[in-house]
Amino acid sequence: MSIKLEEYIDPKVFERIRIFSENKETPFLVIDTDCVNQQLENMVNAFPYASIYYAVKANPAIEILTILRDKDVNFDIASIYELDRVLSLGISPDRVCFGNTIKKSKDVRYFYDKGVRMNATDSEADIRNIAKAAPGSRIYVRILTEGTFTADWPLSRKFGCQADVAMDLIILAKDLGLIPYGISFHVGSQQREIGAWDAAIGKVKVIFERLLEEDGIELKMINLGGGFPANYLTKANDLDIYAQEITRFLKEGFGENFPKIILEPGRSIMGNAGILVSEVVLISRKSRTALNRWVYLDVGKFSGLMETMDESIKYPIYTGKKGEEEEVILAGPTCDSADILYENYKYKLPLNLAISDRLYWLSTGAYTNTYSSIEFNGFPPLKSYFI
Ligand SMILES: *Cc1c(COP(=O)(O)O)cnc(C)c1O
Repeated sequence: MSIKLEEYIDPKVFERIRIFSENKETPFLVIDTDCVNQQLENMVNAFPYASIYYAVKANPAIEILTILRDKDVNFDIASIYELDRVLSLGISPDRVCFGNTIKKSKDVRYFYDKGVRMNATDSEADIRNIAKAAPGSRIYVRILTEGTFTADWPLSRKFGCQADVAMDLIILAKDLGLIPYGISFHVGSQQREIGAWDAAIGKVKVIFERLLEEDGIELKMINLGGGFPANYLTKANDLDIYAQEITRFLKEGFGENFPKIILEPGRSIMGNAGILVSEVVLISRKSRTALNRWVYLDVGKFSGLMETMDESIKYPIYTGKKGEEEEVILAGPTCDSADILYENYKYKLPLNLAISDRLYWLSTGAYTNTYSSIEFNGFPPLKSYFI
């Protein structure tokens, strides 16, 4: 079934972007900066008590960072390269946290020398590194959470530690002269089960209480991570429902005066703001009786659509063509058979779809341009325009 455009984007905005795109060579991404502002505003209104640290990896374009800088947003950063870019925009290092738990000692030092004083961690070796290379800094410990099966792009297993280790690390941090500041978690990106935050907040509560009672350590901050939704084919609740529920979990766990709250949204700020404009390169049937056509596009896994891996994220795809539809298999243009976008999940596209017709991939503002490879098969990285 073709999508209802208005479920994903204001048709007037779409029309503006379509006209803007008309005489440009595909593929490329168009980011609607009004939408970025709107998404940020929604986040701020939904969580008025929280500090927002934008997860820079979702879309690190200067144009985006500048908008967020001017809205007093903070930045969750994973590498010295992201740090350089953010600082080059005149953003003060006290608006930055080093959110990557996997980091070289010399990079910890680099952040420290630039003035950053807040580090995420989840292991003893990393804490010892931080104590040496960034003495006296604030640290927060990332814990493991459940929710892998209800997040469309899970971020578990690789990051975080169990509560017992987290408590050991907090105590060690204090012994090493660091400031144990709080606990963080990430319930998985595009997390559709809001209860995942409930379970995680419950774990945090136990850690807070035990450290206070047994070790006299008072933690001050909970970092609720990202995981907030963008609009894809698989539905999620509205952000306001997330906020209502999560606020309730916090009050149930900690009372009205709950600790300082940090959020690290990436996808929910950027996702809806992007339209990837692509063109049909080839349409074929692999046998005379084949039920499905293969539709090959000029975008694929190596030009920004990495999150189609395992068909995890199902982007809404729009074509202006109308008429009888048929299920298709969608694939990219490169000479790699991994470059198939959707084969199990069948998109329906009109039978009259033809070579050189355009397909518009909605909600592609997050995790696309940076995932695009530099020259696989010679194809250049995905271009971005900002309107
Ligand atoms: C990727 C990431 C985020 C952003 O998550 P979204 O689901 O895109 O909002 C936040 N925090 C950390 C530590 C991350 O790695």
